Amino acid sequence: VAVLVDPVRRLANFVRLWQEGYTGFVRAMEILEIAPDITDRPGARPLSVPYGEIAFSEVTFGYADEGASVLDNVSLTIAPGEFVALVGPSGVGKSTLCALISRFYDIQSGVIRIDGVDLRDVTLASLRRHIGIVQQDVYLFAGTIAENLRYGRPDATDAEVVAAARAANAHDFIMALPNGYDTDIGQRGVKLSGGQRQRLTIARVFLKDPAILIFDEATSALDNESERAVQRALLSLAKGRTTLVIAHRLSTVRHADRILVLTGDGIVEHGTHEDLMAHDGVYANLHRVQASM
Ligand code: ADP
Ligand code: MG
Repeated sequence: VAVLVDPVRRLANFVRLWQEGYTGFVRAMEILEIAPDITDRPGARPLSVPYGEIAFSEVTFGYADEGASVLDNVSLTIAPGEFVALVGPSGVGKSTLCALISRFYDIQSGVIRIDGVDLRDVTLASLRRHIGIVQQDVYLFAGTIAENLRYGRPDATDAEVVAAARAANAHDFIMALPNGYDTDIGQRGVKLSGGQRQRLTIARVFLKDPAILIFDEATSALDNESERAVQRALLSLAKGRTTLVIAHRLSTVRHADRILVLTGDGIVEHGTHEDLMAHDGVYANLHRVQASM
């Protein structure tokens, strides 16, 4: 039985090591990139220039080979450029579904394809280059703002870094820091709010310029005002990309092209906000509960 490595825990190790400096950084990259259980197949090809269609076909996945599956026979297709929201109670597998798109785990049966290609047939590095992830936890390292942003694309020019920060609503607060883009955010006295850190992550993803975006509860830890600023940045980042958003607050998903409702029984409803309100099922119920809070 393969040992499963929790990608989040791996990422936490990565950040801790990263903070130890450059040697730590190199070691951390090894930890992040080499999962013992997930590797390139012999003959795996690079995934090149995807349009960004994501298709799950009868996908079953559980964290242990034996035992209950988290996702059971799930099928869904997200069209290139579509903005899809995934909602549902805690623990039903929303984050798991996102992790599967980046192939942090292999599924037990079924197939996941991007632009018609089975994820297991492409190299992990090329797959992950085309996917941008923004989560609740933000991973920044001790270094300058510019260095942190360039993690999205090491060869980005200064002009590109600034353009990405502007697009992410981050340029103005960066310019207000003691040394602007050269401010070392590991320094004592440099305090960034949760919303500012989140916008740096978004700027980083702008630089990476992936075809596919995943926002997993990206704004759920923020206060209302920061949430709005981050939300605007997310929406501008989402333009022209296939986007999958998981959000606690239903207000953030109502303009999605399509909303999928995931419960312990799988995807039980899908449609626009209006469709699902008219359907008066699980989504409408969740909506009423939140509206009354
Ligand atoms: P959601 O994002 O909808 O809240 P998750 O995808 O995080 O749900 O979790 C779905 C189920 O899988 C939960 O029962 C959770 O405890 C379990 N789970 C999540 N991550 C792991 C992991 N790395 N190892 C084992 N079980 C996990
Ligand atoms: Mg989750």
